[in-house]
Amino acid sequence: MAQVDSKIESMYQEVLKRNPGETEFHQAVLEVLECLGPVVAKHPEYLERKIIERICEPERQIIFRVPWQDDKGTVHINRGFRVEFNSSLGPYKGGLRFHPSVYLGIIKFLGFEQIFKNSLTGLPIGGGKGGSDFDPKGKSDDEVMRFCQSFMTELYRHLGEHTDVPAGDIGVGGREIGYMFGQYKRITNRYEPGVLTGKGLTWGGSLVRTEATGYGATFFVNEMLKARKDSFDGKICTVSGSGNVAIYTIEKIHQLGGKCVACSDSNGVIYDEKGLDLDLIKQLKEVERRRIEDYVKTHKHAKYIAKGNIWEIPCQVAMPSATQNEINGKDAATLVKNGCIAVGEGANMPTTPEGVKVFLEAKIAYGPGKAANAGGVATSALEMQQNAGRDSWTFEYTEKKLEDIMINIHSNCFETAAEYGAPGNYVLGANICGFIKVANAMVAHGLI
Ligand code: GLU
Repeated sequence: MAQVDSKIESMYQEVLKRNPGETEFHQAVLEVLECLGPVVAKHPEYLERKIIERICEPERQIIFRVPWQDDKGTVHINRGFRVEFNSSLGPYKGGLRFHPSVYLGIIKFLGFEQIFKNSLTGLPIGGGKGGSDFDPKGKSDDEVMRFCQSFMTELYRHLGEHTDVPAGDIGVGGREIGYMFGQYKRITNRYEPGVLTGKGLTWGGSLVRTEATGYGATFFVNEMLKARKDSFDGKICTVSGSGNVAIYTIEKIHQLGGKCVACSDSNGVIYDEKGLDLDLIKQLKEVERRRIEDYVKTHKHAKYIAKGNIWEIPCQVAMPSATQNEINGKDAATLVKNGCIAVGEGANMPTTPEGVKVFLEAKIAYGPGKAANAGGVATSALEMQQNAGRDSWTFEYTEKKLEDIMINIHSNCFETAAEYGAPGNYVLGANICGFIKVANAMVAHGLI
């Protein structure tokens, strides 16, 4: 990737100065700004209207106290966040992350990425993100419920189907969305399904939403492979993580003829050279909420590598689906050396800038998160459409829509990269294509 254009450099310096210590946010901003030199050369109006400066500054940032009591009656205080980043294309849309690592810099990086990701979906959604440093791990259902109720008691005033529509992310799944929806309904006295996505199927949720991020990322990789006259057929794949994104990535890889041999959690890696037994993983993770380590209790032939590094396992397709910065420069070099030809990011910003450089220089098919994992939020927008029409679509119909959206994102990124003189560079394609649509809307809306 090029360096930041001289016209844009001072804007990046300003972001560093105004947002001290928020390293993940700096990283996400730099990756986008590095791609925009040729864009502002073509569109001087973006400079005149200070679009880049405005896009880097969230429209609104909400930080609040979340007090709750555990099962013993002990009081705990967490911090809640919602960063409403950009509403040029629609209501703020993006997930909530509950994880002890959460602080403002994480939420801002995620919210910033979400602007361009949501733009790429082609659907009418702006960008936002939220969450808390609450750790759901090891908490009882009742504790999670009390936390979610307290969190929503503050957040509800900022939400609305035309204003801001949260969903899940790490640590927030169907259970948490349920508790938050219940509390929203109770406080507002409104049954307003369009205010949250990722809902249960009997109370306004959409089929395919659970599978969407993983399926979408796999569809995206499939398109990258097709563009190289290749396919998933017989490919050895590794997928980091074992949460919602990883599980449905593995499922779709298997459906498309690939063989996924490894997944992981924050404690270690499972390697099953026969191909992962997904039914067992679903039982362990989705039903029993256990650690992935227990896989080897049932499958003695498989290996559990405590504290292992999944990227050392040779594969042809790697799909990081755990968290940010999980592939560094060295891991990327190991993957390439071991014969990896495609990387599709199910997680948000899972590859460090050094790692991205390795993939781009090796010219492997590299699908960055904001393009590859857009299927989750795209299906959230489909859920909003169904809610608005008081409708519910079949699995097949919704999955086909998701696949078409991913095919479209792929071709837009692919064509934009070629148009800007960097064929095959999906990072450039995604950033430019996502940016231009938002920038044009901002110009049209005037100085706000
Ligand atoms: N958290 C997901 C993402 O990173 C989904 C957001 C949503 O469905 O609104 O895109």
